[in-house]
Amino acid sequence: MKTIWLVVPCYNEQEVLPETSRQLRQIMEDLMEREKISRKSRIAFVNDGSRDRTWSIISQLYEENEIYVGINLAHNRGHQNALLAGLMTAKEYADAAISLDADLQDDVGVIEQFIDKFIQGKDIVYGVRSTRATDTVFKRGTAHAFYKLMKAMGADTLEDHADYRLMSKRALEGLAQFKEVNLFLRGLIPMIGYETDVVYYERHERFAGESKYPLKKMISFAVDGITSCSVKPIRMITTIGLLLFTVSVLMLVYFLIVWSFGRTVTGWTTIVVSVWGIGGLQLLALGTIGEYVGKIYMEVKERPRYIIESVLYRKGN
Ligand code: UDP
Ligand code: MG
Repeated sequence: MKTIWLVVPCYNEQEVLPETSRQLRQIMEDLMEREKISRKSRIAFVNDGSRDRTWSIISQLYEENEIYVGINLAHNRGHQNALLAGLMTAKEYADAAISLDADLQDDVGVIEQFIDKFIQGKDIVYGVRSTRATDTVFKRGTAHAFYKLMKAMGADTLEDHADYRLMSKRALEGLAQFKEVNLFLRGLIPMIGYETDVVYYERHERFAGESKYPLKKMISFAVDGITSCSVKPIRMITTIGLLLFTVSVLMLVYFLIVWSFGRTVTGWTTIVVSVWGIGGLQLLALGTIGEYVGKIYMEVKERPRYIIESVLYRKGN
């Protein structure tokens, strides 16, 4: 029988944890009862440096039942790093790990389908949203624009898949070999390879509390996604630069011809417009390069992606 770990990153989730832990435990115990997963299977909550009672709730759960595991990060490192910390811990004990959000937005009813596909021999199973009906029009629009942009930029991501997925032990070992600090798991995981499959689910509303991904974080997540998966933006700068240079040469030729016919050019507007236009483009280009240079700077330092303060885990029998 396979040992499955659920990995749940939590940042200020005191409102949802009691209910989430109850539902997950019910599902896992039912699977154990039916001998689908081993009794060593666990539900691991990763506390991402929460400022509320999240960690004390997790510790209490751990005291109550050995099915719960608590992983306490030394401080807030963001969703992707917290998830990685959980997955890397799970890798040591489990045959496969399923990552899901703490707020019950990822339909826990399909957990068994993930496990079935794993038993059939798939190494990575992606949870894909069947509809986006519960999203606001704004989130739906921005999400679709994001996937389109990712595709145009040459990053290989699965549309409508967030971080609800199962990964086998060897897939996790593959992931462990990616040493980058700028984490965008969705972009990395397709690079691991192995046989994959998809489970469709409907995403619910957040059960309680509020989103930890405000617009600002969403935008920086999107920028991170593109710049850590693709160097196309830098190439585009080169193309645009070349194009502008060609245009300026053509313009020079044109103005020389006009000048040779004795007509003076009065167009000061043209000059001002192009000064602003080119100035703007240059700043944009510099900013794009800066984004990558910043990433390189962060990568060369090889700082740890997370620091685990403590792990609450009981082996059981
Ligand atoms: N999360 C985290 N660290 C953070 C932000 C979020 O571990 O810095 C967790 C959060 O507790 C939740 C998951 O990441 O389990 C997704 O966050 P949220 O539900 O707020 O995002 P949304 O569903 O609104 O995109
Ligand atoms: Mg959520």
